[in-house]
Amino acid sequence: MPSTSIHELAIQQIERLSKRGFQRLALPKPLENAFEQSTLARRSERLWLEGLIAIGLFNVYVLVDHYLQGGNSWLPIQIRLCIVTPLALLINLSMRWSPNKVYRETSIAGASCLIGVTHLYLESNKNAASSAYAQVGLIVAVIFVNVVMRLQFVYALSASVILLASDLVFIQHDHLLNPSEKLLGITLAVCAISMTVIANYSIGREERLGFLMSLRSEIQSKELSFLNVELQRISCIDSLTGLANRHAYELQFAKLWREAADSGSCLSAIVIDIDHFKLTNDTRGHLYGDRVLVRVASLLLQSLRCKDDFAARFGGEEFVVLLPGTTQEGAMIVAERIRKLVEVAGSPALPEPGSHPRLSTVSCGGASCYPNDTICKEDLLDAADKALYQAKELGRNLVYWGESTSRRKESPPSYKNPLRISVNTDAIPLTRVD
Ligand code: GH3
Ligand code: MG
Ligand code: MG
Repeated sequence: MPSTSIHELAIQQIERLSKRGFQRLALPKPLENAFEQSTLARRSERLWLEGLIAIGLFNVYVLVDHYLQGGNSWLPIQIRLCIVTPLALLINLSMRWSPNKVYRETSIAGASCLIGVTHLYLESNKNAASSAYAQVGLIVAVIFVNVVMRLQFVYALSASVILLASDLVFIQHDHLLNPSEKLLGITLAVCAISMTVIANYSIGREERLGFLMSLRSEIQSKELSFLNVELQRISCIDSLTGLANRHAYELQFAKLWREAADSGSCLSAIVIDIDHFKLTNDTRGHLYGDRVLVRVASLLLQSLRCKDDFAARFGGEEFVVLLPGTTQEGAMIVAERIRKLVEVAGSPALPEPGSHPRLSTVSCGGASCYPNDTICKEDLLDAADKALYQAKELGRNLVYWGESTSRRKESPPSYKNPLRISVNTDAIPLTRVD
């Protein structure tokens, strides 16, 4: 079940269990299963420890029987030590393996009833005092089952009913208590059972509410962190082209620059601008222009071959590509690949029959450098930008390469002393296809 529907279900159940009056404790199946899973290990561990205490206390009566009955105490001792205790210990031991709910609750309820009934059987009809205190023993057993061990409500209620019924039977057949003492005993047992069943119900309700609340906040925080990631993703993506946007570019550029400076590797940047894009917009409309942008963005991505290469929409009809660990030679190949690919496939629509396809072209300006303390990353972009300008000047649909010169990071930008762009005409063939 998807987390949202579990979430809604949890909210519904919180509302239901928070209402006044009696509410059914069982949750819808997926929630009940989740509740069981989340409490299973802790519950089994607790039942095991409390079971040991209960068995220990049950055997304290061996001493009491021996003290009260002297030589006649062998049968009770045998029943306690040789039958009930090993059986109860066996059931208790099985809690170590975190058994499933039905087995766990049924067996503990069964063991508790066995202990309670055995106690009634051994203490009733011996003498007036033990007959009277058999009732108290039963009340202790009920408190243990309903409040200390906190069996799940249905099981606790069943065990309580069995213990009460047994009490009624034993008290009926007790010859040592007079009718008023029997009435008092039964009234006490009924009161204790009613109170502890109510307490058991409240505890069970609180436990489930607590579980649902923590499940709700867990799901909410998961959804929130998912939304955060999604928001972060959206804030880094250009909605039209699906490429990284300017913000993501700034972050990535800073990161790649740092990494290149640390590793001493070359970093290349290519600025790409669609030629005569205003004309495309004016003649074909802005929607067509948008489709050209999407097309060029997709061709840009197709031109990149290394996993660390990065492309972003810089703004308007300009894109930027960052190539970490790539020298001028390799970066020029990428730039030329971009230019060529747009040239042959830059049209977003099939030409109408009889008409000439109007393909878009791009101009690329590139620059490469080895980042170090003497230059800053804006130098690289400036150089690539100026190379782009040169490509435009020389006729468009060109790749042009510039060179970023060193500039101290601290020195403020100066318009009087602009960066020099060297045009490497020897090394870079000016590519142009007419
Ligand atoms: P050049 O070859 O010198 O680059 O000429 P150009 O026409 O491409 O350059 P110019 O800067 O004159 O025009 C850029 C145009 O890009 C103008 C603007 O309307 C258009 N543009 C910018 N962003 C978008 C966009 O998101 N969608 C569309 N359709 N057009 C855009
Ligand atoms: Mg432009
Ligand atoms: Mg342009």
